Amino acid sequence: MGLFDKFKEITRKVSEVENNIYNEKLDYLEVYERNLQLEKEIEERTSELNDANRRILTLQHIWDMMNSSTPLENVLEAIVNSTQGELGYMHCVIINKCQDEDGQYLSILAQSHDNLIARLNNIIGSPGIQMRRLNYDEKSIFADALRKKTILQTSDLDLSLKAVLPELSQNTIQKILTNQPIKSLIVIPLFTRGKEFGWFCVFSSREELASAESDFLRLFAKQIEMAITIADLFQAVRNEAVTDPLTGLYNRRYFEESLAKEVARANRQRQPFSVIGIDLDFLKKINDTYGHLYGDLAIKTIANVLKANARSIDIPARIGGEEFDILLPGINSEGAMAAAERIRKSIENAEIEAVGKITGSLGVATFLEHTDSVEELLELTDQAMYTSKRNGRNQVTLAKPISETSWQEIAVNTFIDILSKNRVPMAQKLSQELCEKLKTKDEMKQDALYTVADMLTKLYNPMHEQGVVKNKILMAVSLAKRFDVPKEDIDNLRVALLLYDIGNLMIPSELLQKATPLTEDEREKIKHHPLIAAQEILKPISYVHDILPIIENHHENWDGSGYPNKISKNEIPLTSQIILIIDEYFALIESRPYRAKMSSRDALEIIKFEADKKWNKALVNEFVSLVEHDIV
Ligand code: GH3
Ligand code: MG
Repeated sequence: MGLFDKFKEITRKVSEVENNIYNEKLDYLEVYERNLQLEKEIEERTSELNDANRRILTLQHIWDMMNSSTPLENVLEAIVNSTQGELGYMHCVIINKCQDEDGQYLSILAQSHDNLIARLNNIIGSPGIQMRRLNYDEKSIFADALRKKTILQTSDLDLSLKAVLPELSQNTIQKILTNQPIKSLIVIPLFTRGKEFGWFCVFSSREELASAESDFLRLFAKQIEMAITIADLFQAVRNEAVTDPLTGLYNRRYFEESLAKEVARANRQRQPFSVIGIDLDFLKKINDTYGHLYGDLAIKTIANVLKANARSIDIPARIGGEEFDILLPGINSEGAMAAAERIRKSIENAEIEAVGKITGSLGVATFLEHTDSVEELLELTDQAMYTSKRNGRNQVTLAKPISETSWQEIAVNTFIDILSKNRVPMAQKLSQELCEKLKTKDEMKQDALYTVADMLTKLYNPMHEQGVVKNKILMAVSLAKRFDVPKEDIDNLRVALLLYDIGNLMIPSELLQKATPLTEDEREKIKHHPLIAAQEILKPISYVHDILPIIENHHENWDGSGYPNKISKNEIPLTSQIILIIDEYFALIESRPYRAKMSSRDALEIIKFEADKKWNKALVNEFVSLVEHDIV
């Protein structure tokens, strides 16, 4: 290309760019002029809308709110308060059109805080309007605005109020509408992503609606629609997020996903991995003494320690309020114990402003060393952490494989699990009290277990006497020993005896204490339900899986006439038969709402009578001799 051609080419490009700029400038000027015109109109026509700066400030404020992480309600409340306060409406409200199985209804999402709403609530009484399920009337101005997709205005406040609150008497409506400055209601329909959402409503002291005013309200409606759409998107993004907002650690969901991947890898390569569980000590005290913000600071401090101590492939996560777990890929229990000890020391060394030193209790469990089930791994980590707490906090405990765990520990952990995770309905205070009782030294554990089991039994059977659980277990163990039941099964039997009737806590107490004869239906419920409930309660607790079959079969009869599976003879575990006979005997010698208590001798007669029906004859003979030995 010659010099001249090059020059021509460059000139062409320059003029192309100039043209573009010129066109854009024209576009810009057009927009600019249109805006000027609009602003002029606004200035001219409405006294409230004459302050352009104020308008910009309001929109800016809304925009800031939308970009923040504030939940939708706060954003919407800011919008209604800005509109109401700064633009001089009497009241502003955002209403959502909802639908449930009972049909369509309206609910208030946000409303401006002003005297008018206080006055209305005062007149209509509890519940206030924000808490009410408001009526959706197809003939109302609201339905009309949605259908026509346009702003509507009405001065018939009486009709509009009746449409949403048909339960109000004419008298009440009159009371609301007299002596107040509202002249009209303006309803702007809202749509988000093409769907009907609800309405932005303003109550005005003017009867007419200036066209600039309706432009302006439309603009606000657009902001609301945008806020709602953004909030929805924000929520969706938040749900996808992998970190916890307070600490920046991974969240529970991400931890669980990583755990699942790690399990697959560990199984494939036969390589262990470990989990360290951490719970902040005495957080409640920190909250109570220094305030929640310092509690949060303590949580953040632990998070920072975990981040500082983690290798790049570790997954430190905040699992709940003050609970943390770290996943350590490829690390065996020895390595994990060293890491945990390092973390414990770092926590202890981190001084917090005002609060001073904090400590944590840690538990460590290793996949393939302690267990090959992931649920069990997390439970073992938890238990080890609780052991650290019980032994005085600020320490690290390594999990014990289930096979080396004593029956007392299994039972204590099961009860704590049931109570702390609210697996049975119970007053919070009582379940906490029982948990505390169970968190005791090893040598006291057995007695604590008997006491807690007695207290739980008393909840559904007020005639139950303290000490009976212990007697039942002692008698069951003596009986099992006469049949040379192996130690492991005897331990399972003890735990089963503590838990077999726990399902009764799920049955309405009126039914259990009924003095009049039960109906067929009620009898069925009482018969089958506790067993089903016990299965439901215990199934999620993997370390009692060996005990479940003993409990499941403790209503099976020797002759096959029991339930739920109608199995017979040697199909029934001996330990289940032992529970059945012990349960029956103690029920007979206890009083019941429908009969007085029986003497031991009478009870034995009844049991003997059912030999070879409910129980194997040999079992009955041994049982009778055991009890008679005690009676004499
Ligand atoms: P322990 O040593 O036995 O763990 O005592 P604790 O007080 O730490 O434990 P407890 O389980 O009795 O109480 C935990 C408290 O932690 C109760 C709860 O209000 C508080 N908490 C949970 N999550 C947060 C949080 O995110 N921030 C703050 N500040 N406190 C929280
Ligand atoms: Mg704690």
